[in-house]
Amino acid sequence: MPPVNTHITTICPFCQSADLAIRHEGDDHWWVECGDCGARGSRAASREEAQFGWAQTSGNIQLLKMMINASPSAFVVKDSDGRFVFANEQLAKFFHTRVENIIGHRDADFIADPELASFYEQTMSRVLETGEEEIQEEKVPDPFTLQPRWFHSHKVPITLGEDKKPLVLMVTHEITELKQAHEQLIAKERRFLEAMMASGEAIWESDNETQDIVFGNDEIARILGLSPAKTVFTRDEFEGYLHPHDREDSAREFFEVLPARGRTSFQHRMVRADGDIVWVRNRVQVVARDEQGEPFRLIGSLRDITKRKEAELHLQMTRLELEQTNSHLESLVESRTSELVQLNLELQSLARTDSLTGLANRLAADESIANEFARLKRGQSQYVVMLADIDHFKRINDTWGHAAGDQALMHIASLLSANLRGSDLVARYGGEEFLMIVHTDDLASATLLAEGIRRLIEVTPLSEELAVTMSIGLAQASEHDESATDAVRRADDKLYEAKTSGRNRVLSAGAADADA
Ligand code: GH3
Ligand code: MG
Ligand code: MG
Repeated sequence: MPPVNTHITTICPFCQSADLAIRHEGDDHWWVECGDCGARGSRAASREEAQFGWAQTSGNIQLLKMMINASPSAFVVKDSDGRFVFANEQLAKFFHTRVENIIGHRDADFIADPELASFYEQTMSRVLETGEEEIQEEKVPDPFTLQPRWFHSHKVPITLGEDKKPLVLMVTHEITELKQAHEQLIAKERRFLEAMMASGEAIWESDNETQDIVFGNDEIARILGLSPAKTVFTRDEFEGYLHPHDREDSAREFFEVLPARGRTSFQHRMVRADGDIVWVRNRVQVVARDEQGEPFRLIGSLRDITKRKEAELHLQMTRLELEQTNSHLESLVESRTSELVQLNLELQSLARTDSLTGLANRLAADESIANEFARLKRGQSQYVVMLADIDHFKRINDTWGHAAGDQALMHIASLLSANLRGSDLVARYGGEEFLMIVHTDDLASATLLAEGIRRLIEVTPLSEELAVTMSIGLAQASEHDESATDAVRRADDKLYEAKTSGRNRVLSAGAADADA
């Protein structure tokens, strides 16, 4: 054994011992050796070289140890007995102890639960058995709290020393927080997906560049009648499902309304895989815009509103049918009403017409006289009342029969009508008595007219047997009259006078008569 030299002042970088010595064999083999752990420096040709080499190696090892202790990863080396050959600060923290307390010990020395201790030992011993390196994510219970912790660990079989002692090196770092965040994210995503499914809406998201639908839920496939797995579409593929008639409107919503307002909601049709038409309400939202302000990322939702649309259509049709029925009824009522109005007019005219002669009857004559008198009072009319009665008409009936009498009456009526103006009135006032209203303020000319008529009747009988004459009384209606019948009464008086003074004559009431 070479003599020990105690001039070495550094400490052993492996075991921290100060028991270091320079040893030599012969004159040219020098080295430094630790009296405690037996660690040796490399061989040198001189004492100085050995000392220098030891200082350098020792410095490097110190540096390496500092780096390993500063690392957030745990560094561990174990031997085949499961004893710790090396451990850094991170592992010491894990066992709630100090590094120097770990070396030479086993997991069971720190972990109360023997099952758990053996689990820890097994995670490393497998690598020694197989000689294969392992990289894995491990879920292990914390040795004290028993809370699950996640580690990313790298285990490598190594050998050390001249005797090639089999060891296993493990470098591991904790990823529990990362795992928890990831699990929370997955849970969040799952909840989001579940909410999306429950909403009954088809949700989609488009790719920024291609505008392809890169994400969608099952509802899209259901709406389009596709297999549930079909949830992503190229832009062209999706546009292919748009109803041809709605493509232009949809394009306007996407390329005009959406960039301007940032969101839009519109209804359109789509053609399902089976060719059926489905109505959807499409809501689109710009999520992000590019530097030019153009929509960059879109999300949207589609809702199947076919049933509602069908109901609306049905309602519209029903309303239309109702409107048509109504207008038919209205026109029916209208035509019935105008028929009634016409009938009423006819009835009114019938009620005022004498059925035998077609002349105005007594009712019409009374109404006309009342109207004319009202106009006279307003200064709008001047008229003469003429009353005519066929002389001895009873004889005609008695001699030739009532029917012959009717013929004679009709003949007289037509003679009277033909000789008065259309604006004047001829009415059958009684059996063989006629009333005429002649519009004039000149009684003399009216008397001349009456005289003409009387003469005409006398000379133009219907037949020789039915020849008759007529007596006529006239009176000028006056604004001083109290009632419309005043002038009629005066004319009647004159008629009576004509009768009593021999018949077949015309007599008119003078001023004196009017005043009387
Ligand atoms: P006068 O007036 O000149 O005194 O004699 P009259 O014979 O005409 O007198 P009256 O007024 O008494 O007789 C009128 C007759 O007219 C009685 C009636 O038979 C007849 N008469 C009235 N209306 C009609 C009718 O519609 N048809 C026919 N055929 N005769 C009628
Ligand atoms: Mg008569
Ligand atoms: Mg008479």
